Amino acid sequence: MASLQSQIDAIRSGPRWGEEAAEALLAAAERMGCSELHLVCRKIDALAQGRCEGALHTLARLPRPQFVALTQRFKSLARLETNGRGQPQEGWIERGAAPGPERSPRRLRLATLPTIHGENLIVRFPESPIQRLGLHSLGMPADLRASVEAMLLRGQGTILAAGPTGGGRTTAIYAMLLRLYESRGDRLNFTTVERTVERDLGFAAQVAVDETPGLTFEGALESALRLAPDVLMVGEVRDAATARTALEAGLEGRLVIAAFLAERAAGVPARLLAMGLDPYLVASSLNGILASRVARALCRNCRRRDAESGAYEPGGCEACAQTGFQGRTGLFEWIATTERLRDAILSQAPREQIAAEAAQAQTGDLLEAARAAVEKGVIARSEAEVLFP
Ligand SMILES: [Zn+2]
Repeated sequence: MASLQSQIDAIRSGPRWGEEAAEALLAAAERMGCSELHLVCRKIDALAQGRCEGALHTLARLPRPQFVALTQRFKSLARLETNGRGQPQEGWIERGAAPGPERSPRRLRLATLPTIHGENLIVRFPESPIQRLGLHSLGMPADLRASVEAMLLRGQGTILAAGPTGGGRTTAIYAMLLRLYESRGDRLNFTTVERTVERDLGFAAQVAVDETPGLTFEGALESALRLAPDVLMVGEVRDAATARTALEAGLEGRLVIAAFLAERAAGVPARLLAMGLDPYLVASSLNGILASRVARALCRNCRRRDAESGAYEPGGCEACAQTGFQGRTGLFEWIATTERLRDAILSQAPREQIAAEAAQAQTGDLLEAARAAVEKGVIARSEAEVLFP
């Protein structure tokens, strides 16, 4: 495929410049798995930049005289006011499914910013820390996945997806929901309450709290529960009240899958107790804890083996825009709650003892998963060191 720059240069004086360039830029950003596309107009030049794996890269230099036609095209894609160039605007671009097995179309967030040199744009792609949505494609070891699936198919209780922000919790939850949908289909009602909907699942009723004026997270959760969903996703458990609501819903015969901010799976039960939650509630409702991290995968096209350490290090090639990385992989650890763990929670055993019982019940280990991924050349040693300093 011709490079993006030569594509841009070839169409710059054509009659359909805006349309063609917008499509070329969106397609290139998607192909590279960028989370954002920036169109930046500066004093003497204009750039298309993509944020990939957290870092901004220049994708192409844009012809400055044709810059406005391009931003107008993006704005009309998002059905924004194309005349008004004075005010920042925000809107959505509806776009077909990205290349790959994902079936649902995607909505890209477009924001404009007037600057002294012209109107800049940023397009945000739905967060896709792991490109494919499906438990089998997240990089989970088979035994861990089998245990998660078995717990999902029980169809009740609470499963917490732990990790830091950007740790792949939402993707893991979506994958779990999809797995359940694949086996139970429309016999179950799926409802999600999320700050922003990162991906339109197609089979679930999804509430985007931040995009609904006047709606609070707690209010949305209560409303969702009144509709008695079989499966409820809670996009974030930040405080004791949300945690209590989620755990109680899990006791009422539904399956609740909630995102929880915690570094490691084994620390979660004690954290819940420290938040002041009833030990009986935690012990009886909490069925599983999945902790995850997302690591940048080495570009297989250009990774190179370090002669001394034997580990693979990033190179740089056209396929990965010279970054050395392409796509991402997930690292996981999973706890299926055992009777011993429930007993330790119920009796409010010391924190260390609860953690020890949790560790006993654990399948996989984040640190070991990272080590194995380094050994196999899936991720770079430097990447593992960033994730687990
Ligand atoms: Zn490469």
